[in-house]
Amino acid sequence: MTTKVISARFDLPDSHRIETYVAEGGYNALRKALGGMTPEEVIEEVKRSALRGRGGAGFPTGMKWDFVPKDNPKPKYLVVNADESEPGTFKDRVILERDPHALIEGILLGSYAIGCHQSFIYIRGEYWYLIDILEQAIAEARQRGYLGRDILESGFDLDIVVHPGAGAYICGEETSLLESLEGKRGYPRIKPPFPAVVGLYGCPTAVNNVETLASVPPIILRGGDWYRSLGTGKSGGTRLFAVSGHVRKPGVYELPMGYPLKKLIEQDCGGIRNGKRLKAVIPGGSSAPILTAEEAERATLDFECLAELKSMLGSGAIIVMDEDTDIFKACWRMTEFYEHESCGWCVPCREGTRWMSKIFERIHCGEGRPRDIDLLAELSNNMFGRAHCPLGDASAWAVEPAIRKFRGEFEKYLRPPAKVAAS
Ligand code: SF4
Repeated sequence: MTTKVISARFDLPDSHRIETYVAEGGYNALRKALGGMTPEEVIEEVKRSALRGRGGAGFPTGMKWDFVPKDNPKPKYLVVNADESEPGTFKDRVILERDPHALIEGILLGSYAIGCHQSFIYIRGEYWYLIDILEQAIAEARQRGYLGRDILESGFDLDIVVHPGAGAYICGEETSLLESLEGKRGYPRIKPPFPAVVGLYGCPTAVNNVETLASVPPIILRGGDWYRSLGTGKSGGTRLFAVSGHVRKPGVYELPMGYPLKKLIEQDCGGIRNGKRLKAVIPGGSSAPILTAEEAERATLDFECLAELKSMLGSGAIIVMDEDTDIFKACWRMTEFYEHESCGWCVPCREGTRWMSKIFERIHCGEGRPRDIDLLAELSNNMFGRAHCPLGDASAWAVEPAIRKFRGEFEKYLRPPAKVAAS
């Protein structure tokens, strides 16, 4: 039985209402912080918890807040990245739908820590049906004195604005998100400067993922050491894993960091459906390099183990593929996704994704040349590290590791060389 931290209220009736949240001890972490902790102490507690960003990059949250300069006279902003669009990822959606007050309390704590008085939730355009839930939760919190002016008579002010995106995957990248929030086209910015120093409207900004912020109230309430002890030393706490693909019970599972991937697939998710064998797993959303069944068997769900396997935990989206999966087609599909979502700003990604798509198509329709598989791998290697933002790397990672590990799946699409008739 694993400790439920983030998902503890998911199955309660009316879990999205403030009455339910408060009855379960909600907003007590805010009371504790505003009642007797300094912003620095809040940051220290989060640092102690070893909480790392749940959006993909896994950056330590306390450190991110610490980077926001306290002596800068400009306004500070906390922006929530709710632009959940990584293929395979659907865990933030559950928090937004079933426990929006956990997010709001996390925003309050983060804002207090960095000195922010206006926060924004940038929500994926396709999540339009969640906007009403969020707006209602914000109104409830305002009505009860948890948002607005002089919150809980502490002198601290904060308000939250919900801003829907327009369906561009690239706006999940934090600097594109800020551009979009400012009303501009969602192109990624050049870094440095990083958003912590020059972010929204040129002001210091912390950009945090939904699940990351929803994890903060229990950390403040029960302490960073407690939270850290739930996971591994370097990857603290629990996290939500969105499992999809060929398992009997796909869904969102909360598990401690360091949990064995094999156990998640075989026990929690009921094993591979229809009695099939496992072929491959993508462990962190489509941007994470694919694992073979043998690698998946020894993987644990933490940042360190997956880095050793040259993959990553990413957004916690686990895509399970059984023995019947066509890896060539799966890679082609992902490449088409990246081609479609490429913002076109830099050449390696704009041209590379298009070129790879064309080669996939050529191979698939039986006109592939023997060198095409190496050409795909070479293209993907050349894109890696040379694109302006992580989308370029992600599109490369979707291809090269798959060729390296499942080359036969690609070769089967190449026509055998035509026999030359003997003269
Ligand atoms: Fe745009 Fe792709 Fe370049 Fe990122 S890597 S800036 S998405 S073209």
